[in-house]
Amino acid sequence: MKLYAQRILLADGWHKNQTLTIDNGIISEIESGNVNADVDVGTVIPGMVNCHSHAFQRAFAGFSEQGSEGQDSFWTWRTIMYKFLRQLTVEHAQIIATQLYIEMLKMGYTRVAEFHYLHHALDGNNHDDLSAMAKAIFEAGDTSGIGLTLLPVLYRFSGFGPLPATEGQKRFINTTEQFNQLVTECVQLSQNYRNTNVGIAPHSLRAVDLPSLNSAVNHIRGIDECAPIHIHIAEQQKEVDDCLAHYGKRPVQWLLDNFTLDPHWCLIHATHINEAERQGLAQSGAIAGICPTTEANLGDGVFPTAEYLAEKGNFAIGSDSHISVDPIEELRWLEYAQRLTKQQRAVLADTNTLSVGKNLWQRAARGGALSTHSNTGELAIGKQADLLVLDEDKLKLFAHSEQHLLDSVVFASQSNLVADVMVNGQWVVQAGKHVHENQSAEQFSELLSQLSA
Ligand SMILES: [Zn+2]
Repeated sequence: MKLYAQRILLADGWHKNQTLTIDNGIISEIESGNVNADVDVGTVIPGMVNCHSHAFQRAFAGFSEQGSEGQDSFWTWRTIMYKFLRQLTVEHAQIIATQLYIEMLKMGYTRVAEFHYLHHALDGNNHDDLSAMAKAIFEAGDTSGIGLTLLPVLYRFSGFGPLPATEGQKRFINTTEQFNQLVTECVQLSQNYRNTNVGIAPHSLRAVDLPSLNSAVNHIRGIDECAPIHIHIAEQQKEVDDCLAHYGKRPVQWLLDNFTLDPHWCLIHATHINEAERQGLAQSGAIAGICPTTEANLGDGVFPTAEYLAEKGNFAIGSDSHISVDPIEELRWLEYAQRLTKQQRAVLADTNTLSVGKNLWQRAARGGALSTHSNTGELAIGKQADLLVLDEDKLKLFAHSEQHLLDSVVFASQSNLVADVMVNGQWVVQAGKHVHENQSAEQFSELLSQLSA
């Protein structure tokens, strides 16, 4: 198929009047002018990659905003979240993930990395089929049409020591051998679903020890040398303190010292890092998976984004708890947290890209592609056709020259500007509508009315 765009953000910048030829989901040719196009659109930008999702938490959004006299923290939020997930079945997980992934697509996320740790049945025992929950996620991805990187989570302990898992964590826990089996099953399952791949996610340094981490990394590397490896790290100061007490090192430093980090690694949050860790992370090429709205919502802290970007660090954005499912809001908060703490403006521009919006959109999309080891993140010959067509009627109410367009999108837009979404060469959202959105919303709202926290 041939798609003509009046203007399009290609890998090397804005271009006018271009025709993309798309074969089997891949951009095979880009020509000037309208060359026998099947579709004629206005403004096109690359789709965004969401590097961090816990799908079931979409149903929990809004359930944990009740205060208890200043005593609330990440840890009290987690207690409520553990209680909430006790009621979720495989069927529920699929309904929630389907709704979430449709919402993601409509807002401009074209691929998601699912950090998948809700493995077992309500009573904590294995499902007859170890990968039953993973299959629900694959099905949800398939129904929605989003690109999916499934990251089964290795979760073994409740804390450094190691401390045994708690009652609330029993649905997450696998032995290392069982986890490796689950990964193998997920890799096999992914063969049945287009535009998917599989990596692993050791949950955090507090939830795994070095032998189990080594085993899981060696297992996935034996299957796929480039599979993504994601890990929560240094999200909370307590985690840093506990890691220092146990290992004598800060978490990111410990990881840098024990593993060869590269762009196939993605460190989720990495909020509390010192200068040496920040520089080590940037130099490694690993991705910082920053989740600004969740980190704000949970009171985590602020990632040192300005310094890290100046050091050419790779980053991606994630919606994590889904307190927001909007890449614009993530990027806006990423910049605003820097402005508020530094009392400066336009902090995350760089000398090559003065537009903060354009710099953030392009770097986040490219970092997201690295974090999922997917052929996405920018529009160029040979790349997957994951793209967004913006709503011209809304765009023209803001400064929308190529120079200003993504700044208006990121900082000024008050409503969703995404009109049409293509994933892997297929239209999944057209005129703001997803073909399954009504049915999904009905099932999801019915489910939500039965859930409590
Ligand atoms: Zn997370």
